[in-house]
Amino acid sequence: MKPSDSVTSLKGVGPKKAEALARLKIFTLEDLMMLFPRSYEDRSVVVNIADLAIDQKCLIKGRVTRKYANRYGRKQRLVLKVADATGGIEVVFFNAVYVSQSIREGDEYLFYGKVTENRGRLQMIHPETEKDDGRRGLVPVYPLTKGITQNEMRKLQTMISGLYSQIEEMLPEDMLETNRLCPMKYALENIHFPTCKQMLQEARYRFIYDELLVLQTGLFAVRCNMKNKEKGIGLNRNIRVDEYVESLGYQLTGAQQRCIDEIISDMESSQVMNRLVQGDVGSGKTVVAEVAMYKTAMCGYQAVMMAPTEILAKQHYEGFVESFGKHSIKVGLLTGSMGAAERRRTIEGVTDGEIQILVGTHAVIQEDVVFENLGLVVTDEQHRFGVNQRIALKEKGNNPNVLVMTATPIPRTLAVILYGDLDVSVIDELPPGRQQIDTKCMDERERIAVYDFAEEQIRNGGQVYVVAPLIEESEVVDARSAEEIYEELRERFDNYNVTLLHGGMKQVEKDRIMNEFADGDIDVLVATVVIEVGINVPNANVMIIENAERFGLAQLHQLRGRVGRGSRKSYCRLIMCGNSEIARRRGHIMEESTDGFFIAEEDLKLRGPGEIFGTRQHGLPDLNISDLARHIRILNHAKECAADILKEDPEIETLKYSVLRRRITKFFGEDCMLNL
Ligand code: ADP
Ligand code: MG
Repeated sequence: MKPSDSVTSLKGVGPKKAEALARLKIFTLEDLMMLFPRSYEDRSVVVNIADLAIDQKCLIKGRVTRKYANRYGRKQRLVLKVADATGGIEVVFFNAVYVSQSIREGDEYLFYGKVTENRGRLQMIHPETEKDDGRRGLVPVYPLTKGITQNEMRKLQTMISGLYSQIEEMLPEDMLETNRLCPMKYALENIHFPTCKQMLQEARYRFIYDELLVLQTGLFAVRCNMKNKEKGIGLNRNIRVDEYVESLGYQLTGAQQRCIDEIISDMESSQVMNRLVQGDVGSGKTVVAEVAMYKTAMCGYQAVMMAPTEILAKQHYEGFVESFGKHSIKVGLLTGSMGAAERRRTIEGVTDGEIQILVGTHAVIQEDVVFENLGLVVTDEQHRFGVNQRIALKEKGNNPNVLVMTATPIPRTLAVILYGDLDVSVIDELPPGRQQIDTKCMDERERIAVYDFAEEQIRNGGQVYVVAPLIEESEVVDARSAEEIYEELRERFDNYNVTLLHGGMKQVEKDRIMNEFADGDIDVLVATVVIEVGINVPNANVMIIENAERFGLAQLHQLRGRVGRGSRKSYCRLIMCGNSEIARRRGHIMEESTDGFFIAEEDLKLRGPGEIFGTRQHGLPDLNISDLARHIRILNHAKECAADILKEDPEIETLKYSVLRRRITKFFGEDCMLNL
């Protein structure tokens, strides 16, 4: 056996088990090795029955002196009388045919579980039960999926423990030493079957370090690539943007103006611009990008803006046609659902330079989209895109300026890591006249009152979003679906236009619906989170979120940001089902604040320790063992090490770092654009 072999080469792993493992993204033996326990049970000591403490998890070793079954209500109950030299305890299982068959009276077993007391008698209910194989210490508890049990997983892990020495070291020996990292074999042994807590610590440190090093080296490599040939275009200083700004019909906020000044000064310098614009929902990021695109177009270059959804791309396009039309600048749209002929025409327009500003979805990074002279690339709602897509877009031009926009407030520590290559502008001021959005958490029994309230708003000329977590009813998840709500609301609001919108619909359909909603023809739009980002319908003033307990804070904030965009007094109603403590606290935060940065900080605090920080939200692959919010110190070590490696081997091409290189490629995905 070797680590690259398929899991099916293991005894006992057939198609069924392989399928279960695949759900955990485990295909090879090496993948299996890299499945780290989520916790450990301390079974280093066998406790005498006489010394057992109530409510504690303990390991005991005892002989089954009696075994009998009886009924307990509607359940089948199996009782084992277990004794060691010091005393006796009752071990109880419910509906456990398998246990009943495998345990023999008179034999000795290990039982691990919580000790309880029942009418003065000691009990253990559903303990883990095993024959004693002599192994003690910390026992791993693996993440599981349907079709594979904890014991099976432990067995598989034991079966492959002989292969640890075949896993190649990612770092040369001297580097392991200077960074006080334990060797790979030792790390694997002790992450799976730790001899003691100290050794487990060392093993965990090694894997956290490795993962963060891979992350850092990869990101640094991106940066080097971006900074390398960074002689920029340097736009003409004499071409001004005043005319565009004056045609807007409103005054820019101070924050927008500052941001625009920073961008223009970047673009006029001889260095390439790499700038992140961070601003809460509704702070007016689009117009900032418009001014940058205007300047670029007036200087004779093209600009492109990439948006995460078709709806949003379309909406930007329509806005741009109007605002740039006034200045005779030609705008084009490119999305995935366009007809072939239309697509070809647009691409031709882009290639021969007739289209000066292109807006679209990730369709704009397709290979056959060639620009005549691209001078600016803008990514809207950047957190929805991967690092790779951001780079792919940039590669369309010859050192174009780069502007990325995001509404996701990122804690500062994280921003430095993710966007270390970017300068940051913050729009920390909302356009004038915006009111606070009146936000209330409601119990699901108050739904009728919520609907009555919505009707009142519609009668006054407002429009309503109703968001559901699912498209259609699900047997697995207990949440209301958009379809179910849609049917219900169609009856409840039979005098009004109620329409359903979800991500599974055809693009033309979605566009038609969004346009009708924007035109005010639809009163109630029942939708899934497809409307989460960017959509701008200023007349919509009520946001009702069903099963609000299922959404995270950042998402709730984004959804709420769809209302309160015009002059109408706006409302958000969070319908909470069940009564989870964390959901209640989230609801409370939403009621108290409309400040995205405050909400992001609170979100971070609410995450339990050990919960992995959602890197995906920021366009990064998921981390396996490290946690950016908790391992800052290790991250800093890894960062220094990454810098050293790149100084020594900027392209990570020497044999010495070939394993590292492979890991980076694997971590960032096969279509990795890091140009390593
Ligand atoms: P976001 O930052 O969420 O992308 P948008 O750019 O979509 O926000 O802007 C939200 C709304 O605010 C738009 O209707 C836009 O026209 C309007 N807006 C932007 N800046 C101003 C301003 N300075 N004064 C008034 N309205 C503005
Ligand atoms: Mg926006």
